[in-house]
Amino acid sequence: MARINDNYLKLKAGYLFPEIARRVNAFAQANPDAKIIKLGIGDVTEPLPQACRNAMVKAVEDMGDRANFKGYGPEQGYLWLREAIATNDFQARGCDISPDEIFISDGSKCDTGNILDIFGKDNKIAVTDPVYPVYVDTNVMAGHTGEANEKGEYEGLVYLPISAENDFTAELPNEAVDLIYLCFPNNPTGATATKEYLQKWVDYAKANDSIILFDAAYEAFITDPTLPHSIYEIEGAKECAIEFRSFSKNAGFTGTRCALTVVPKTLKGKANDGSEVELWKLWNRRQSTKFNGVSYIVQRGAEAVYSPEGKAQIKELVNFYLENAKIIREELTKAGLTVYGGVNAPYVWVKTPDGLSSWDFFDKLLHNDNVVGTPGSGFGAAGEGYFRLSAFNSRENVIEAMRRINGK
Ligand SMILES: *Cc1c(COP(=O)(O)O)cnc(C)c1O
Repeated sequence: MARINDNYLKLKAGYLFPEIARRVNAFAQANPDAKIIKLGIGDVTEPLPQACRNAMVKAVEDMGDRANFKGYGPEQGYLWLREAIATNDFQARGCDISPDEIFISDGSKCDTGNILDIFGKDNKIAVTDPVYPVYVDTNVMAGHTGEANEKGEYEGLVYLPISAENDFTAELPNEAVDLIYLCFPNNPTGATATKEYLQKWVDYAKANDSIILFDAAYEAFITDPTLPHSIYEIEGAKECAIEFRSFSKNAGFTGTRCALTVVPKTLKGKANDGSEVELWKLWNRRQSTKFNGVSYIVQRGAEAVYSPEGKAQIKELVNFYLENAKIIREELTKAGLTVYGGVNAPYVWVKTPDGLSSWDFFDKLLHNDNVVGTPGSGFGAAGEGYFRLSAFNSRENVIEAMRRINGK
């Protein structure tokens, strides 16, 4: 009989969202008239920008025309898209990133998991707690951890707690780690990182020969001009950081699928024989072998994000969600709750009142107000006592959910 990858048996079987669905379904069955509002899931709700749709319609027509038809494209993505990204997302911010250091993919979720293909087995890996669960689970699958304890912490990982006490920004580890996952603006807490804070991480990484895996999926939500959008705005980051970006949250591509990963050619890792190897070469080889590129149509849609109309429409989209976040923050504060995030991020991180556990607060909100959020404990042990509300919803739903919570 075929042997399985036993590491999968260590996984805490996708507990969070199935458990939310189970509780919501049970409540809906018992209360068929309840109008449940879901502010739980991190998925966008507003339609694709017109500029992206126009570009994709035109690309479909290209595919029906022998002269413009496209078969397989470059595994790394079309050069015109990589150039638009290098110019607009990086060079315009003073980051010296070239198009050939940019790899187009069908998602940052996949890339943050797949990147482990190019790293060895014996790395010490640090994650924040709470954390985007993909970083942890993909390391479990790759056999980089032992078993989980009763709190859900995996043996072998270094957990860096984040809470109100440290402004939801982790302290540097007091040991040397090889890989560090950072996500700013943060999912789930909505926290942001200053240049000074990221400089401490870059200095640490250079001093310890670590690689920072920087997830910038929410950079478009930064409105504070002093905050960095890219890790490469930090001096020295090109020697120690890989950056993940996505069109999912800025342009609403969660169902369209397009993202990118930046692997600077200056990044190196160590081989078994002690020699230093360029990570770029390994990632290029990995993508060329296991990936066949993103659809031409979708890449044309992504390119339109950088057109003047696309830029204006994306700004409007992001501002729409940020206004939702502002309403959530203000109304919850009026309701006497303590809230964090939701300023340069689409997530509001709420302290549960009266010492309630994350799940008790979940049940209370579901039963009293018919509003669904995400228990903080689902993102890690240190998320206990917190709750995530997402600004990805219609204005109508956000206002109605807040009206209910405020008892008006
Ligand atoms: C939504 C999200 C992404 C984007 O994932 P895609 O696969 O590109 O849709 C990446 N990282 C975090 C933390 C996210 O919340």
